[in-house]
Amino acid sequence: MKIKSAEFVVSNSEVTKCPKDNLPEYAFIGRSNVGKSSLINMLTDRKSLAKTSGRPGKTQLINHFIINKNWYLVDLPGYGYARVSKSSKQKFQKFITNYFEQRQQLVSAFVLVDIRHKPQPIDLEFIQYMGESGIPFGIIFTKADKLKPKAIERHVEDYCQELLKSWEELPPYFVTSSSKSIGKDEVLAFIAETNEE
Ligand code: GDP
Repeated sequence: MKIKSAEFVVSNSEVTKCPKDNLPEYAFIGRSNVGKSSLINMLTDRKSLAKTSGRPGKTQLINHFIINKNWYLVDLPGYGYARVSKSSKQKFQKFITNYFEQRQQLVSAFVLVDIRHKPQPIDLEFIQYMGESGIPFGIIFTKADKLKPKAIERHVEDYCQELLKSWEELPPYFVTSSSKSIGKDEVLAFIAETNEE
């Protein structure tokens, strides 16, 4: 898919206020610092599309971008801040689960994980939630430029083995690097294919 246009539309704190035109959408979520803004910028060929809405104060919002005037790329808040109180954690979880459970036009989410690390409980918990709730998702491994090809293979294999302990089938997954522009075509091809169905 060629990205002809990519524009910021709106930031929201409530799913009920998200765009109502029923265009298909794809949501990106992951632990803060996983490389989500960089990935969104790589996918859309824009230097700072995600940063526009990522400025302080906007990080806890649902950000909609319209791509090629026919689908939404949704930038969701990063999870896993070390020092949040239990109540703000619960509030955050509610906000995110409302989005996933109410947004009928969501075609697929992408859960981003840093390829350098062993499967982390916070990511596995989130993936578990997505699977149990029947929300379609893929996994995007980020920062692949940080590892050698053999290590990439091993880390992906470890992740898959971990998931296969709970699930019979693996979700689609993609190995990416925003610094080296790896995986862009694969992610965009997946979006193009699922968007047409
Ligand atoms: P976000 O908080 O998930 O939006 O993450 P950012 O996109 O802001 O990236 C967090 C940090 O990781 C920044 O210092 C980026 O430069 C770095 N980073 C992001 N993507 C990559 C990548 O593909 N390769 C490398 N080496 N670093 C990356």
